[in-house]
Amino acid sequence: MDNKSKDKRRCSFCGRDESDVNFLITGVNGFICDTCAAQAYEISQEAMGGAKSKGGVKALDRSQLPKPTDIKTFLDEYVIGQDDAKRYLAVSVYNHYKRLLQEDHGDDVEIEKSNIIMVGSTGTGKTLLARTIAKLLNVPFTIVDATVLTEAGYVGEDIESILTRLLQVADYNVAEAERGIVFIDEIDKIARKGDNPSITRDVSGEGVQQGLLKLLEGSIVNVPPQGGRKHPDQKMIPVNTKNVLFICGGAFDGIERKIAQRLNTHVVGYTASQESAHVDRNNLMQYIAPQDLKSFGLIPEIIGRLPVLTYLNPLDPKALRAILTEPKNSIIKQYIKLFEMDNIKLSFEDDVFDYIVGKAVEFKLGARGLRSIVETIMMDVMFELPSQSKKTYKVTLAYAKEQLSKANIAKLESA
Ligand code: ADP
Repeated sequence: MDNKSKDKRRCSFCGRDESDVNFLITGVNGFICDTCAAQAYEISQEAMGGAKSKGGVKALDRSQLPKPTDIKTFLDEYVIGQDDAKRYLAVSVYNHYKRLLQEDHGDDVEIEKSNIIMVGSTGTGKTLLARTIAKLLNVPFTIVDATVLTEAGYVGEDIESILTRLLQVADYNVAEAERGIVFIDEIDKIARKGDNPSITRDVSGEGVQQGLLKLLEGSIVNVPPQGGRKHPDQKMIPVNTKNVLFICGGAFDGIERKIAQRLNTHVVGYTASQESAHVDRNNLMQYIAPQDLKSFGLIPEIIGRLPVLTYLNPLDPKALRAILTEPKNSIIKQYIKLFEMDNIKLSFEDDVFDYIVGKAVEFKLGARGLRSIVETIMMDVMFELPSQSKKTYKVTLAYAKEQLSKANIAKLESA
């Protein structure tokens, strides 16, 4: 850098030389450094927050709160099946609102929050549920991924970064963030790796769980407003997580084995074995209980702080078929819209859908694979049709088969 020419440039607010700051922003008659700019922003936010209302929090109107059945109906438009998870989510979100209202009234009976944990194989709609519910919420909502979290001092992100995200979506309005909802995805990835925690340092496992516990329980956490550890000088913002609702989701690969073990060991005696006859071995997930999470490697304290446990069903061909065409923004509807923009009316032979589902099942691609299969089938058409004068196009079963056989399906498996 050319230091000489910049020697005289200094922040008009703190007086620091350009070489002492990260960067200077140039104004008409002066400069401002990054630190002062950030502080100025905070001050203006505080001033504006104070003007809006108490702490800048939007008041919730009881009459406008969506009822659990409304929430479920809304979820139904976008997510196929998973009724159990939908009902639990709907009730928890509704109760979350009620708890926030109760706080406003300063009642004696304090409703405690009920954080949720959703267990279900990957690609069964956990994140989709969370994203969909976010559309109708009027509190700050964010989705974070537990895989990046590590114990303080190790490569990765500190637990507090979860709240940084919440602060960001709340436009740094702390009071708003303090009543938000956080979806922590892939919570199973911070499970203890082995039964003996002392063999090696488990920096992304139990240590992280201990950190997370603080957040779930409700405590005042110092949050780095910019997140990460790259800005050691940044001023921390205290955030109280007492009223933050946490929804956790995870695939918990292999947990069915733990469930099966538990179901088997409990089956002793004649009546018990009769009961076990009713166990649906194809979907053990529905019998999930807190002790299975413990066997998987979550510490009991965390499990205790996630009192609402629900599950997602594996997607059968019928569900996959529905996912393809039924949701409000289903994959097929998206393609039809794409073609509509070229004034082409796209349609499919009914058999094509069953064929696509069949392939997704055959190659164990699940719901995520549906899109890649449709994409493969449609690629040539999408390439050629816009420059032709056709006004309609129907995808036939024969065409779908031909396109897919041309493509290397193994490629899709990694999708
Ligand atoms: P998870 O979080 O459980 O791993 P996702 O919610 O990310 O899975 O699902 C992956 C994709 O599969 C979604 O974007 C959606 O297109 C589709 N999908 C999965 N489950 C469903 C469902 N129950 N209803 C509709 N679409 C679904």
